[in-house]
Amino acid sequence: MKCAPFDYVRAHDLNHVLGLLSEWGSRARILAGGQTLLPALALRFDRPELLIDIQDIAELRPTPYQTGNYWRLGAMTRHVELETSPWANEHLPLLAAAAPYIAHRAIRNRGTLGGSLVMAHPAAEWPACLLALGGQVVLQSARRGERLVAIDDFFTGLFQTQRQEDELLVAVELPCQIPRHHAFREVALRKGDYAAVGLAAASLPGQQGELNSRWVFFGVDDQPYRCISLENALRSCADFDQALSRARVALNNSLKTKADPSYSAEAKKTVALHMVEEVLHEWYA
Ligand SMILES: Cc1cc2nc3c(=O)[nH]c(=O)nc-3n(C[C@H](O)[C@H](O)[C@H](O)COP(=O)(O)OP(=O)(O)OC[C@H]3O[C@@H](n4cnc5c(N)ncnc54)[C@H](O)[C@@H]3O)c2cc1C
Repeated sequence: MKCAPFDYVRAHDLNHVLGLLSEWGSRARILAGGQTLLPALALRFDRPELLIDIQDIAELRPTPYQTGNYWRLGAMTRHVELETSPWANEHLPLLAAAAPYIAHRAIRNRGTLGGSLVMAHPAAEWPACLLALGGQVVLQSARRGERLVAIDDFFTGLFQTQRQEDELLVAVELPCQIPRHHAFREVALRKGDYAAVGLAAASLPGQQGELNSRWVFFGVDDQPYRCISLENALRSCADFDQALSRARVALNNSLKTKADPSYSAEAKKTVALHMVEEVLHEWYA
């Protein structure tokens, strides 16, 4: 099958993109890395009238820089850059740990942070990692200018986000404070597939030795799931045994998993429980 006809514009700057998005709205698509969009066009799952290619826009791919307490990363940051850059390894180690699990190297060479967040695939790595770190998404439109959306509010359902059709995701902002612990786990049917079950977690030093952690499961439901009851259960545990038993109760009560063609809901829950146990072992060692 071939793509349906569409117009193509290679945008020359940010205002050009925002003007086109404002004019064409839902009839336009942003072309970032093209790793999801182009197959969708070829299969005619999607039939936009205009593609706006943003690969030449330098503002969307700056060297990461600090703004207040956040690192700002451009939307066109490619997956491979977070995988291989010593900077990412030092300042955003959770992202560096997760990157090799995204698809295959050829896809990571082109695919972008912004594209992945806007797609909001329920089993994708970046949405889960960003939720585990906290932070915010920066959206921009010609009419309303820039707005910040907390990552906790950004994902609204299966392939759904807060982004409006005239908005470009321009950047993400992630806390500069390096987690005391971080963990990334993923089980997939084959290497390079989307996750069947995944876990991204990070902890910051809390008050009086409390564990101030964020735990996010992905591949288990329609959107990445931040398990707040687990976070609360782990806040003040005396030791590993107490943490594990509280974690089991919290997960059994709150973690909902959906079956897919390869894994039952029960199998996914069992895998998630094992992942948490393994991470707690590491964190309490
Ligand atoms: C075989 C295969 C396996 C894959 N496996 C994985 C995997 O395991 N994990 C994973 O996370 N991903 C996986 N992917 C997807 C890959 O990571 C994509 O790169 C990613 O989902 C989309 O990024 P992109 O830059 O290619 O976006 P594109 O394909 O260019 O765009 C995707 C969508 O987002 C919109 N968009 C893109 N950028 C912006 C922006 N800045 N502002 C507003 N809208 C925007 C586009 O209009 C389009 O609707 C896989 C892809 C393939 C083909």
